[in-house]
Amino acid sequence: MTKKIVTLAGDGIGPEIMAAGLQVLAAVAPKINFAYEVEAKHFGGAAIDAEGHPLPEATLTAAKAADAILLAAIGGPQYNDAAVRPEQGLLGLRKELGLFANIRPVQIFEALKHLSPLKPEIIEGVDFVVVRELTGGIYFGEHTLNERKARDVNDYTYEEIERIIKIAFEIARGRGKKVTSVDKQNVLATSKLWRIVAEDVAKNYPDVVLEHALVDSLAMKMITNPNDFDVIVTENLFGDILSDESSVLPGTLGVMPSASHAANGPSLYEPIHGSAPDIAGLGIANPISMILSVAMMLRESFEETAGAQYIENAVNKTLLEGVLTKDLGGTASLSEMTATIIDNL
Ligand code: ATP
Ligand code: MG
Repeated sequence: MTKKIVTLAGDGIGPEIMAAGLQVLAAVAPKINFAYEVEAKHFGGAAIDAEGHPLPEATLTAAKAADAILLAAIGGPQYNDAAVRPEQGLLGLRKELGLFANIRPVQIFEALKHLSPLKPEIIEGVDFVVVRELTGGIYFGEHTLNERKARDVNDYTYEEIERIIKIAFEIARGRGKKVTSVDKQNVLATSKLWRIVAEDVAKNYPDVVLEHALVDSLAMKMITNPNDFDVIVTENLFGDILSDESSVLPGTLGVMPSASHAANGPSLYEPIHGSAPDIAGLGIANPISMILSVAMMLRESFEETAGAQYIENAVNKTLLEGVLTKDLGGTASLSEMTATIIDNL
């Protein structure tokens, strides 16, 4: 059956890197007999310019009906003082699609080791995934602010914790078979419940090892012992901080994809970086985060593991050949890098 992919190119370098991602998808599809159609929609600042709203009705309708969504990047300085901002489109889309699980794989490419802030002796084999709960917790609890007192409420239900922990176990099953559940259970009630639920879910995954870690200790170990981890799962606030911490380990934003999943309906795949307005339109952006987001989509939405692997291998080979964009210390243009990746598929 033909899969429907909705693309949201957005702003800044978004359109350039989206085009690169779609070129790679077009090149890999015949190798794996993957039939798909693409529907491009306005989103973010581009949608504000075209239709006066960052998440137009037609975009939302198409996104809901899609089998998967590819998003490049949104935002830019020209919208800083706008009455309605591009980011509101993303919050609206996440909410409408119920995207409660955010997945960020962290790996350090052989050819980019020198960019990583990690010590050379611990870099080997760093390859883990951060799974962050995205729609619950303290960001969505009650907030009250008085002059002398402020209060934020951290709420989690058993079901909200269960569904995110299950995702972590499913991912671990397909990887290194270990889940590190992160909490602050020596202090927080939500964390005590978190640990109970993690133990309950683990009973259904006897092939996966569960370990618990306190968030403060994990924040250190991510730097000192990054090799110890396979899948790290945590609540919204801790995940916000830990996923940003993890994103500096590869030494560049330009190579990291992400996925967001809902209970039902399409998943969304996007680079972790922003719209890079400073280099938009110059043809020098690094397309790898976008291209690896396409690989993630093939694996996680369409079970096209071979297709994902082809892309990941081609990216690795391209980097080893020294075809590097400016952010990676090279001189290759976006189109040269994309063409080389396609050659290496
Ligand atoms: P946002 O608020 O949208 O997340 P940001 O402030 O985090 O944006 P980015 O847009 O991610 O910033 O850019 C941060 C820096 O990294 C910029 O200098 C940008 O040019 C660079 N950068 C980001 N993505 C890429 C890329 N794909 N290729 C090359 N450089 C990039
Ligand atoms: Mg940012």
